[in-house]
Amino acid sequence: VQEKLNLLKQNTHNTVNSLLDSMALELASKVDTKIANGEEIGLLEGIPFGIKDVYMVQGTYTTASSDLLKNYKSSYTATAIQKLLDAGAIPLVKENCDSFGHGSSSENTIFGAVKNAINPDLVGGGSSGGSAVNVAKYFTTFSIGGDTGGSIRQPAGYNKVYGLKPTYGRISRYGLMAYASSTDCVGPIAKSIEDIRIVLNIMSGKDVRDQTTFSSEEILEESISNSSTIKTVGYFKNFIESEAISPQIKQDFLATIDKIKAKGIAVKELDFFNADILVSTYYTLAMAETASNLSRLDGTNYGARIEGENLKDTYSITRSEKFSEESKRRIVGGNQVLSQGFSDEIYLKAQNLRDQISTRFSEDFNEVDIILSPVTPANPPKIGDSLNDPLAMYLSDAYTVGFSLGELPTLTIPKGTETGLQITADKKKDEQVLQFANFLN
Ligand code: GLN
Repeated sequence: VQEKLNLLKQNTHNTVNSLLDSMALELASKVDTKIANGEEIGLLEGIPFGIKDVYMVQGTYTTASSDLLKNYKSSYTATAIQKLLDAGAIPLVKENCDSFGHGSSSENTIFGAVKNAINPDLVGGGSSGGSAVNVAKYFTTFSIGGDTGGSIRQPAGYNKVYGLKPTYGRISRYGLMAYASSTDCVGPIAKSIEDIRIVLNIMSGKDVRDQTTFSSEEILEESISNSSTIKTVGYFKNFIESEAISPQIKQDFLATIDKIKAKGIAVKELDFFNADILVSTYYTLAMAETASNLSRLDGTNYGARIEGENLKDTYSITRSEKFSEESKRRIVGGNQVLSQGFSDEIYLKAQNLRDQISTRFSEDFNEVDIILSPVTPANPPKIGDSLNDPLAMYLSDAYTVGFSLGELPTLTIPKGTETGLQITADKKKDEQVLQFANFLN
């Protein structure tokens, strides 16, 4: 624990906003005492982990990497994090990310851009960039990210580690700062499928504080080492034939498909919605939900407050000065699509498209067990290069957002293409995803 804290201290600007030193050292010494007394310790006891700074941990800063919540301290602990603490895991750090999860590069943060673990000139990916980089660099053994439209899977791919977005509702969102509640998912980033499995099992389960949760059975080690249930794999032809895909990613993906065929698994090409539809549906809904969720940050109850002439002024000055440009863009866009005269045309249309996307997924999963996809159409950009081009940034999410709208379990594995491979199964079949990942190993 001490060693990892030291490493994190040397890299604070890059990846971290606040260390949980005293809590970590106190917990670690308790584990040491247990070991010294010859007591048995649990699987996760003493294992150091990181937490994307959008999770409440009582008494610690939870900033969402934003200026608005720079000095905000949580008054309670998120369910998922509490379960890890109860299992004896040791939280080391709250991790840098795109402010409120708004972004795909971890540059939209007051703590400085997160640098890619493999090439520090490139972005770390986002929004859970700090979490993926910390795992890739062994600063944490695993980290808990948050994925609304790709924020665990894409940085995992950019930094060559594993990252799972579980089925929506498998892990409680209580204590996760809401971005877009209908797709927000809690999930682990780690160095191996086995670590993903262990952490997923601990965090999963029904929670009375999140009515979208369901109870799920433990995924056993034996069940994921046996690939016999996976007979047919599909992939979206239009993803691979799109103009936006880099030739290298396309070539590597198709080579991976050939390898899978050679292992005796049937492969099917599937038709799917194109990137423009997926990205615009996702961003319409995500912006509408974030406009609604962030309306509570008005300088009254939480975080920064800049006093104006009257209350209305206080709201508007606080929000205009303290939200980032990107968050303001989304709040304004979201309020617009929800407003009278626009909502039927835009918001309800996006809801309808989302239903169609879900239906298509259900049909596809009657024919295939697994859907494979590259994580991104292109390699990570250089830091600074795409920050001023929001549309390009949104389009880079083309391959991740569809699975979020479908509420499906999707795992990034660090192979198959330069930025990884996404393995997706039908709802609640997270076990099958891990099983197939093991098979590809
Ligand atoms: N890049 C996507 C967005 O900005 C996804 C972010 C996320 O999953 N939090 O909305």
